[in-house]
Amino acid sequence: MNHSSHDPSCIFCKIIAGEIPCQKVFEDEEILAFNDINPAAPVHFLIIPKKHIPMLESATAHDAPLLGRMMELAPRLALQQGSRPGKEGGFRVLVNNGADGGQEVYHLHLHVMGGPRPWKK
Ligand code: 5GP
Ligand code: ZN
Repeated sequence: MNHSSHDPSCIFCKIIAGEIPCQKVFEDEEILAFNDINPAAPVHFLIIPKKHIPMLESATAHDAPLLGRMMELAPRLALQQGSRPGKEGGFRVLVNNGADGGQEVYHLHLHVMGGPRPWKK
């Protein structure tokens, strides 16, 4: 992990550092996934880079493989967390980006939401 990218004032960096607890879904060298504290669906977890990337426009071409890995993890973790497979199942992947995009935490994250409907957000 690149500790130089750690922002001590960032709540998700604090979760990565273990200073704030989370319900962990997945972790490796460069990615952490954990359940959203305020779930909008029966399955709702966040996939974040360990590197502090505030928003999409902060990412560079250098980060493209990392962002790709986050996307690639989504279906595997969604199934593990209880989203239903196949056409009748599935899940939503969402990035809130910037104030107009509804972003509240400025550490890039994918929301992954699933489980039986009805649920909405
Ligand atoms: P966004 O920035 O995409 O609008 O939303 C940030 C998301 O992070 C929200 O869904 C919120 O519930 C979640 N969140 C904020 N603080 C914490 C926290 O301390 N722990 C966890 N697990 N989730 C959090
Ligand atoms: Zn951060």
